[in-house]
Amino acid sequence: MNAQFEQLLPDLYLLRDTCNVYVLRDGDRAVAIDFGSRDWTGALDSLGVKQLDYVLLTHHHRDQCEGLLSYTGNAELRAPSGEAGFLSPDGVKAYWKRRTARPSGYPTSFSVLPRGLTNMQCKLAEGADVFWGRHRIRFLPTPGHSAGALTIMVTWQGKNVFFCGDAVHAGGKVWQPFHLEWDHWTPSGALQAWYGLERLSYCHIDMLCPSHGPVVARGASDCVKLARTRLMALIRAKGSVCEGEPDDYLPLEPLPGLNARRVSPHLYQFGGNSFLLVSKTGEGFVVDPQISSLPDLEALLPVAGVKRVTATIASHFHYDHTDGYPAMKQKHGAEVWMHPWLAEILGNSDRFDLPYLPAAPIKADRVLPETGESTWNEYRFDIWPMPAQTRWHCAFMATVDGRRVFFSGDSYQSPSRWNGTGGFCAFNNSRFDAFRNSARLVLRVKPDVIANGHQVVYRYHASHYEKIVRWADTAEKAVRDLCPSLDWLKDYYVQQKLEQP
Ligand SMILES: [Zn+2]
Ligand SMILES: [Zn+2]
Repeated sequence: MNAQFEQLLPDLYLLRDTCNVYVLRDGDRAVAIDFGSRDWTGALDSLGVKQLDYVLLTHHHRDQCEGLLSYTGNAELRAPSGEAGFLSPDGVKAYWKRRTARPSGYPTSFSVLPRGLTNMQCKLAEGADVFWGRHRIRFLPTPGHSAGALTIMVTWQGKNVFFCGDAVHAGGKVWQPFHLEWDHWTPSGALQAWYGLERLSYCHIDMLCPSHGPVVARGASDCVKLARTRLMALIRAKGSVCEGEPDDYLPLEPLPGLNARRVSPHLYQFGGNSFLLVSKTGEGFVVDPQISSLPDLEALLPVAGVKRVTATIASHFHYDHTDGYPAMKQKHGAEVWMHPWLAEILGNSDRFDLPYLPAAPIKADRVLPETGESTWNEYRFDIWPMPAQTRWHCAFMATVDGRRVFFSGDSYQSPSRWNGTGGFCAFNNSRFDAFRNSARLVLRVKPDVIANGHQVVYRYHASHYEKIVRWADTAEKAVRDLCPSLDWLKDYYVQQKLEQP
C-alpha cells in the first residue's frame, strides 16, 4: 500500500492533502470525501481501486476541491445543494464580481475557487441519501464555516463515521474560525454553527473525521460538545461589549425641514454619519463626510450660518464615513485631513482587501500626527489612534460650547446599538488589545459627550468603558479557545489573499 494513505478502518483511508481526503473502498471501487489538490488520485492504484465512483464535498472552500478544476476522471462530483452559489460557473463568476468590486462589501465567503465547476452537481442534502452499492451515505447540515456545509455520515464496519468538514476540529476547536463571521458584527454564522453542533452532539459518533487536523477516534461526542460550548462563548462575546449599561443619548434639538439636528450652538449632526462644526469665522468643518448626506449639509449650511467648509476629517476608512471627501474638496475647496493610519489605507485602497472601502483611492491634503494635536480656527483637536471596530480608526476631541466632545466614528456605540461595538470581526482586523487600549484612552481623557457615526451622540459614563475593558478579555479568550493552533493571531487573523480569477 502507498504510504500516503493512512488506514483508519478496514477499507477506510485518510490522505493528508490541502485538506484531509477520506477514501471509502468497496472491492475495486471507491468514494472520496473531499478532494484537495488531486495530486493523490494517482495513488488510488496502490489501494487496488480501479474506479472512483463519487467525489462528495462537505463544503465549497478552495482547499477542499481546487484539484477538481483539472480533474478529468469519470467520478460523479457532488456537493451540498446550499453550496451551488460558490461552485457553479455562474455562481462563482457572480461571487468574484462582487468580491472585487469597489466600493467593497463584506464577502459571502473567504475561500472560493477561481472559476466554477461545470460537472459539479450541487444536490446533497439532509434526507437525500446517496446509495452506493449496499452502503447508504447520509447528510446532516452543519453550517457555519460555510452556509451550506454538510456532515457526511456512513456506517462503516459497524461504526458510525462522521465526515464533518470544518464544522469541528479535534480538541473542541474550529479550523479558521473567521469563516464563522458572516458579517462584520453579528454572531449569525456562529449561531448557525452552534445549532449544527447541537444536532451533531445528539448523534452517536464512533469516529469523527474533520477536514483538517487529527481524526477523533475516541471521545468524539465530547469534542463536539466542547466546540459547541466554545461557540456559545463567542456568540455571547458578540452579543454585547457592555452588558447591562443603559443608553444615555444626548437630546438633540430638531431643525424642522432638515435632516440635521443641533447638538449645541456650534455643532450639528447631519445625514447618516456626519457632523458640522462651526467656527466664529463663519467657516465649517465636516466630520465623516458621506456622499449621500451632502444634500443635507447644503441645506444645513445657511441655517448654521456657514459660508464655506474649509476642512474635513474622517474617523475611519469605511466608505460611509469617507466617500464624501472628494466632493467636499471639489465643491468647497475643503482641505482633506486624515490620521496617518487612514491616509495609508485610503490613499492606496486599491491595494487593500478590506470591507467597505470607497470606490477609489483618496489622497490626504494634511496628514495629522498619529497622537498629538491640530488646530482649526479657534478649535484645538487632540488626536489619537482609536482602533476597535476596525484596526484603522482614529479619535479626536475638541471643546465645543464648553463641552469636551469625543469623535470616535464607529468604535463603540451606545450600548443597545449594534451590541455596543459597531462590530468586531477578523476581516476588519478588530483586535482585542486595541479594544482594551481604546476604551482605556476614553477612560483617561473623560470626555463629556461621545459623538459617533450613525447619529449616535451620548453622554460618557466611565462604567460603560470599564465594562468594555473587561469584555475585551472575555472576547479574546472566546476567540482564542476556538483556534486549533497556539498561534491564535495567525488562526483568526488570516491574511486574506484576494485571489482573483
Ligand atoms: Zn473550510
Ligand atoms: Zn464603520
